[in-house]
Amino acid sequence: MTALTDLTLAAAREGLAAKRFSARELAEAHLTAMERARALNAFITETPERALADAAASDARRSRGEAGPLDGIPIAVKDLFCTAGVATTAGSHILHGFRPTYESTVTAKLWQAGAVMLGKANLDEFAMGSSNETSHHGPVVSPWRRRGDNRPLVPGGSSGGSAAAVAARIAMGATGTDTGGSIRQPAAFSGIVGLKPTYGRCSRWGIVAFASSLDQAGPLARSVRDAAILLGAMAGHDPKDSTSVATPVPDYEQTLQAGVKGLRVGIPREYRVDGMPVEVEALWQRGIEWLRAGGAAIEEISLPHTRYALPTYYIVAPAEASSNLARYDGVRYGLRVPGGSVDAMYANTRGAGFGREVRRRILIGTYVLSAGYYDAYYRKAQRVRALVRRDFDQAFARVDVVLTPTAPSAAFAIGEKSGDPIAMYLNDVFTVPASLAGLPGISVPAGLDAHGLPLGLQLIGRPFDEPTVLQAATALETAAGFTARPEV
Ligand code: GLN
Repeated sequence: MTALTDLTLAAAREGLAAKRFSARELAEAHLTAMERARALNAFITETPERALADAAASDARRSRGEAGPLDGIPIAVKDLFCTAGVATTAGSHILHGFRPTYESTVTAKLWQAGAVMLGKANLDEFAMGSSNETSHHGPVVSPWRRRGDNRPLVPGGSSGGSAAAVAARIAMGATGTDTGGSIRQPAAFSGIVGLKPTYGRCSRWGIVAFASSLDQAGPLARSVRDAAILLGAMAGHDPKDSTSVATPVPDYEQTLQAGVKGLRVGIPREYRVDGMPVEVEALWQRGIEWLRAGGAAIEEISLPHTRYALPTYYIVAPAEASSNLARYDGVRYGLRVPGGSVDAMYANTRGAGFGREVRRRILIGTYVLSAGYYDAYYRKAQRVRALVRRDFDQAFARVDVVLTPTAPSAAFAIGEKSGDPIAMYLNDVFTVPASLAGLPGISVPAGLDAHGLPLGLQLIGRPFDEPTVLQAATALETAAGFTARPEV
């Protein structure tokens, strides 16, 4: 029999319904896996008692015939989602001791659907990063290794703990957030599926804010179907978030197998960037052939402002972050470092509470918003953002989805890029444009590089057209037949 931790979420759902095992057994199997994999540092807070209590409640609901769509499914929650009564750190020292008295809408919906909470997953501090090395709680170690090389690798970021936990079979699925790629890129690095929904599809209420016009919650899972199931529970309008949209949530599972016959797939020529490894290029080509073989019409398209997306993002995101992070002042939340005056207390608290990358973003954000530079940087970036969005609007008049690589490389070693912020930011070249445009994007594990590390392909869709994105993703997943798994 397959180990309970190896099941997909969909298979576990069936097994639970058929009473082949209980939610309690499923939770226990995952808690054991979690203990064994502590070296990955995937969790900031483990909640085993909560998991067992959730599982017992789930078994009781099932025996009364009241099981919900995710009943008994053990999941990890990125520690950026506020969870009532459970420490929430955002990977930062400044939230030291913070226990929210409220629950984020997305996690509340997951618990309502019956999911079981395993713990709070590690992340880059305030979700700023692409490698999960900026967490105050230490880096997350990927369960993957290069063949014949034992150096620890990054899981990607910022949802690195979520990705590592799902890849290492500690959690069946996890929540992540994606501002410029933080669900899709760690999914690609970790050999799993990651879906960033359309901006407004999931409520941001109760998620610690990084860049409010970009932040979006979404699932990480081991199959496209599992991601679709999780999204179905997470999505929906929320009166508490004015940017969440009131379009009905479709049944994402229903159209998964519809195939790609007649689907028009755009291949943006501007994504052929200099210095892209040949194997990423080759995988992209294979993805094109897979979809063509499935009956899709492949069309080269142009997204002319692609090269400006990354610099634009690194103005808009820090600007919003500098404003959002002003609330951490030693008065309202978490850490307080006393000083001789109120100003000194603010400065001491923020100096001690924020790490280097967060401080860098606050400085950049404050600079681009300051009088004299606002027009030159921030306003200009807003205009370029509109052009990036328009590129996609024009492309989607001709095609139904866009296919690209998810990231320009496979996972790198811990420490390899952490001294060079620009090299780190370049990880996001392929994910940031869809973020700026607010579009749904998914990463599907599609192959291995020469060292045996996973590579992902990304599909981007029209606003709220997650069904088509998931449908094309299923076709890619089937054609790729990715079965590799980490050894650790
Ligand atoms: N890596 C990007 C950044 O550092 C994206 C992070 C994210 O999506 N949260 O900003």
